[in-house]
Amino acid sequence: MTLKKQVLSQLGHSDYRPLQEEAVDALCSGRNVLLAAPTGGGKSLVYQVAGLVLEGVAVVVSPLLSLMSQQVEKLHEKGIRARFLNSTLNPGEQDDLVWALRHNHIDLLYLSPEKLVQPSVIGFLHSINVSLFAIDEAHCIAQWGNSFRPEYSQLGQLKASFPKVPIVALTGTVDKKTISDIQHSLNLQNCLVLQSSFDRSNIELKIAQKRKAKQQILYFLHHEVAGRSGIIYCRSRKKTEEIAHWLTELGMPSSSYHAAMQEKDKQESHRIFSTQSGMIMVATTAYGMGIDLPNIHFVIHLDLPSSPESYFQEVGRAGRNGQPAKTLLLYGLQDMLQAKQFLALEQKGVQHELPRLHDFFRILEARGCRRQNLLAHFDEKTTECQNCDRCASTKSEQNMTIASQKMLSLIYHTKGLQPFSVLIQVLLGRKNKATTAMSASSLALFGKGKELGESQWKSVVRHLIAYEYVTLGHSEAFTVHLNEKSRDVLQGKVQIILPADVYYPILHEDELTLDTAHWHAILSWKNETAGIDLSETQLRLVCLHKPKTIASLSRLTGLSQDQLHGAAETLLKLIHQTRSEKEAAHCL
Ligand code: ADP
Repeated sequence: MTLKKQVLSQLGHSDYRPLQEEAVDALCSGRNVLLAAPTGGGKSLVYQVAGLVLEGVAVVVSPLLSLMSQQVEKLHEKGIRARFLNSTLNPGEQDDLVWALRHNHIDLLYLSPEKLVQPSVIGFLHSINVSLFAIDEAHCIAQWGNSFRPEYSQLGQLKASFPKVPIVALTGTVDKKTISDIQHSLNLQNCLVLQSSFDRSNIELKIAQKRKAKQQILYFLHHEVAGRSGIIYCRSRKKTEEIAHWLTELGMPSSSYHAAMQEKDKQESHRIFSTQSGMIMVATTAYGMGIDLPNIHFVIHLDLPSSPESYFQEVGRAGRNGQPAKTLLLYGLQDMLQAKQFLALEQKGVQHELPRLHDFFRILEARGCRRQNLLAHFDEKTTECQNCDRCASTKSEQNMTIASQKMLSLIYHTKGLQPFSVLIQVLLGRKNKATTAMSASSLALFGKGKELGESQWKSVVRHLIAYEYVTLGHSEAFTVHLNEKSRDVLQGKVQIILPADVYYPILHEDELTLDTAHWHAILSWKNETAGIDLSETQLRLVCLHKPKTIASLSRLTGLSQDQLHGAAETLLKLIHQTRSEKEAAHCL
């Protein structure tokens, strides 16, 4: 067996995945490598194998402390000599680490970018034999730049300081520009760029218009993913807590996670989610990077991600076990406006995120297969996926050129100062406080848009924004401007064709009963307990009739007591459990 094979099996694997071996070979021959593969694609293995094959210490830089400590722990379990240099080490532990590094007792050293760029650390690394540098989450160099964690961009000096040591930059879903930005920032000459397909075909992509979002997610949770584990992403910290509490009350055990939580609460929330089946994690995007759980079955977005990259990364946390997984993104015009404003306020002066948000708007509004549109953003061509809401629908479309012309004219006549909600009221001819205040009835377009409903008008506006047929102002007060592209629409040079809107169904809280809670618990138990030979129909019967004894359970399911194995007792307990017992069982 070659050394490379031995190391691979020491890490617990028998074969390489696509691109891994090529990357390892290039690194081992001293070449720089940039590996872009979806999250969960197995990028860490590349520097782990190369680090163990090459002589010296492989230095791994990652932005997430929790991710590094997790990896180091896992490697220790496999008997691999990995250590983590962080500021929690006391002087004794630091001395011990330095000694071990100097005496070749360590193969992989993990540290943060902040630690690595410290002159004392760089100096120390010069005194030992460094086999390679691995820069994990390298897209952060391009995305965070100088704003968030400036040390990430200082990693560019590594190449000058260690010209002979190969660097491997690892990144998830990124476009071509980010790839060249990373190469440029890290000074990676003669670099082997390996980019795997971004397609995760087992993940169903569903994007729908938002209407009563909470009731829509109830429908999804109850009818599509009952009893399964998944993540609900929302932007506000408060909302994560509210929704987690609300779902738990409804019998769907949920936990929350956001950046402002205490470290120990975050860890506890992650622990509950990763160890209990059928748990829902309601989180901001603070929960995610480096989370590698095989059994996340669904991802819901209640707010818009800020770019196609973030969307892909976030939905990509589902279905890591290769099994079919589901996703649902809900949004509307208001979400688009808020996302834009949020970014403008958050990132004062940093303008490079806005084009990415616009790219995402276009993907949301584009015609045709969702996956094709998304993958096209990453320069990947595919056929229609048959696993998204568009491929599953009739694909009806409407020509909205005239409606768009009306909206643009109205923007012109109102000098771009009226919010879209008011402009829609004007076109619908509604007399209310807002339209009266602007003397709308004197406008030629007042009531001239009654051929469409309010929601269709919102679709028109979304499309105009996404394709930049109008430009939104950056100031806090709402303004919208016509531009060159608006003129093309007004002159009829461009046709505006919109895919039909899809509203995801809703389910009211009062339609959920205690039985629902039982149902979710039972399904989650079925998913967890491999080998239980009861179909969903049988389980529904059990839930409905609530047998009290093993004998009646056996009669109801048609399975002998032997066939029910030890399952009968747990099942009976689950269907007779009260809500408070359920909550206590989930420690929430
Ligand atoms: P990434 O860094 O690309 O997000 P990871 O390195 O965390 O992905 O790997 C994701 C999962 O894939 C891990 O559970 C890892 O053990 C598994 N994995 C990696 N390489 C292989 C392989 N060659 N064969 C089987 N499983 C692998």
